[in-house]
Amino acid sequence: MLPSYITLYKSGELKKRVNFLKEILKNCTLCPRKCMVNRERGELGYCKAPYKPVISSYFPHFGEEKILVGKNGSGTIFFTFCNLGCVFCQNYTISHLGVGEEMSTEDLAYIMIYLQNLGCHNINLVTPTHFISQIIEALLKAIEFGLKIPIVYNTSGYESLETLKLLDGIVDIYMPDIKFYYPETAKKFANAEDYPEVTKSALKEMYRQVGNLILNEENIALKGLIIRHLLMPNHISELREWLIFIKKELSTEVFINIMEQYRPLYMAYKYPEINRTINYKEYQEAISIAKNLGFKNLYLY
Ligand code: SF4
Repeated sequence: MLPSYITLYKSGELKKRVNFLKEILKNCTLCPRKCMVNRERGELGYCKAPYKPVISSYFPHFGEEKILVGKNGSGTIFFTFCNLGCVFCQNYTISHLGVGEEMSTEDLAYIMIYLQNLGCHNINLVTPTHFISQIIEALLKAIEFGLKIPIVYNTSGYESLETLKLLDGIVDIYMPDIKFYYPETAKKFANAEDYPEVTKSALKEMYRQVGNLILNEENIALKGLIIRHLLMPNHISELREWLIFIKKELSTEVFINIMEQYRPLYMAYKYPEINRTINYKEYQEAISIAKNLGFKNLYLY
């Protein structure tokens, strides 16, 4: 099964999408922040991302879900900066402090090919939202160089519906790490009161595009939706609400990974309720909630 971006490339549609996305950068509304800055001229918006893509690292990742890692790893590319900005960010040196190297879209295309040549099972774009125009431009070049593995869109879920629609047929696997269900929590911890409303629409659109997860004979993901949720201390009710939403609006067949590795990093020390790791009881309760709601494809550690 070849990724559908090959079909879009052959029909010329992929090139059109690149041009649309590049236009958006001139008055940037790539994400729900809608800063309307001219990225092409070097103006910076909320995410602080410049025009050229900035990458902090790329490597075959063996710490992701087994269905992405397989034998040879998930070909992960970490993009610098972020459009959300959580106070507890585990990668704050990259997303808030801007550690990374600016490069051309051609270099980015070569990185994709390098990861494919290492045997990686997919190209895993981590925090790609604010550079998605440049990434798709790089993808166009990478296809010419022979890229043919699935694209994973590894995001916080804070996505504009208009931009997601431009990714239809390009992204094979959407992997949103959904966070806050309540607007007040989203405002407090990520300065994004509209996060729940925006992410609900984004999830529905992602699911419409790719559906439930499809694996190959070696249990490697080829296409579909993987929903992650980083369980936070004292916030289990947010998970419950999200799961009720997913059950009602998507399906209990959706692949769900409830992650237990929260650490109180960056500014988390300023918020007593999230200034600790989660405990065993909380994690077990989270898994029980998901099972009791009937979720069939839970990723268990
Ligand atoms: S991608 Fe960055 S500049 Fe563009 S709207 Fe989002 S936060 Fe603003």
